[in-house]
Amino acid sequence: QAKTLGRGRHEFFDVELRERMQRRLRLEQDLRDALPNEQLWTAYQPVVDLQTGRMVAVEALMRWNHPQHGAISPVEFISLAEESDLINVIGTHMLRSTTRELAARRAEHDIDIHLKVNLSVRQLDDPQLVPVVQDALATTGLPANALCLEVTESALMRDHVAAAEILSSLRDVGVRLAIDDFGTGYSSLAQLQRLTLDTLKIDRSFITGIGTSRDAEAIVTSIIAMAHAVDLTVIAEGVETQDQLEILHDLGCDQAQGFYLGRPSPAHDLFPNVASFRCHKA
Ligand code: C2E
Ligand code: MG
Ligand code: MG
Ligand code: MG
Repeated sequence: QAKTLGRGRHEFFDVELRERMQRRLRLEQDLRDALPNEQLWTAYQPVVDLQTGRMVAVEALMRWNHPQHGAISPVEFISLAEESDLINVIGTHMLRSTTRELAARRAEHDIDIHLKVNLSVRQLDDPQLVPVVQDALATTGLPANALCLEVTESALMRDHVAAAEILSSLRDVGVRLAIDDFGTGYSSLAQLQRLTLDTLKIDRSFITGIGTSRDAEAIVTSIIAMAHAVDLTVIAEGVETQDQLEILHDLGCDQAQGFYLGRPSPAHDLFPNVASFRCHKA
């Protein structure tokens, strides 16, 4: 009897696994068509300076509007794209389209807003990355120092020697570099310093605990001190309450991002209001 039971469970898992794999395969196929079919678009989320309360940058976040499934999270489709060369195709598209958008909006609204674009670690292996970035800047006229490329801490640490090399060639182009989701990987201060970054983004999981968990607050305090010691600008991710914002301000955090300050929005909703944007809450 145990045998039949065991087999039944096996079949159950096989079915579930098969269905999951089939969804991934279908989605990967759909993702290949998403770009030519114009289903990919970009949301922009404000990054706010905590001293002045003004918007200083926007982070470009990719969105996929699937014809049957609706909005699919970038967490799911980026990881799908990373399994093939597709990540380089959509990553290149992202760099070209967002620099074009930003350069146009900066001119139209006379604003000095910087652009943050996420890079997959797979893009760091692409020999075309540096030329693509250079070309995007040259074509659009966006100043190199107005572009900041974000790579997650966990991705950087997986292969930090190779990553350091490509980051340094990006740095030679004049763009800024940020370490994203900081606190979730295991980097040392020495590794951080060697990577010659400009910005460190504290992962949302630590910001969520601020105001309720003394441990979270202690961790955030020490991350800010450590980052400032090696001259990095610190951005807090995922600020959702006034309490969190006030504490971050008091801790000397430089900039913040989160639903409390502004949700990721289509360019046409966000940019007309950038010049008048003020956060008096900090
Ligand atoms: P990320 O780069 O750390 O981006 C921040 C994520 O946190 C975004 O999720 C944003 O919508 C969300 N967020 C911002 N403020 C809040 C808040 O107050 N509360 C909560 N709960 N969430 C907040 P999103 O847009 O779903 O993107 C998830 C991840 O997907 C990004 O994390 C990034 O790693 C990746 N991603 C997005 N666009 C791209 C892209 O163009 N290329 C690559 N390689 N990765 C991308
Ligand atoms: Mg990011
Ligand atoms: Mg992040
Ligand atoms: Mg994140």
